[in-house]
Amino acid sequence: MKHIETIEEAIKEFNKINIHKKPRIASTNYPNNVIFKCGCSLGAHRVNDPLNFIIGMQFPVKFVMRCENEYITFFKVKGFFKQTVETYWTCSRKIGLEALNKMGV
Ligand SMILES: [Zn+2]
Repeated sequence: MKHIETIEEAIKEFNKINIHKKPRIASTNYPNNVIFKCGCSLGAHRVNDPLNFIIGMQFPVKFVMRCENEYITFFKVKGFFKQTVETYWTCSRKIGLEALNKMGV
């Protein structure tokens, strides 16, 4: 998992994932043991945790989520019968939101 420390880097990563496609329906209906790693002090969250806010997603199974500690994380859910999560990157809310602002999202 990569920790993004600068706005420029965050813009680069957001551009790669086509964040503009905001989800109309995003299902996070995964079992409790499907967990993504996060850069915040908790270190990880359940994908189905209602405290997470979905910022965007890339269909079908990649999510950009903001957690209760306001870190922004991009991850992918893998597998069908048994799911695991690959976390790509995480950044603080400040960096993530400033990057999105600059991109006009
Ligand atoms: Zn977190």
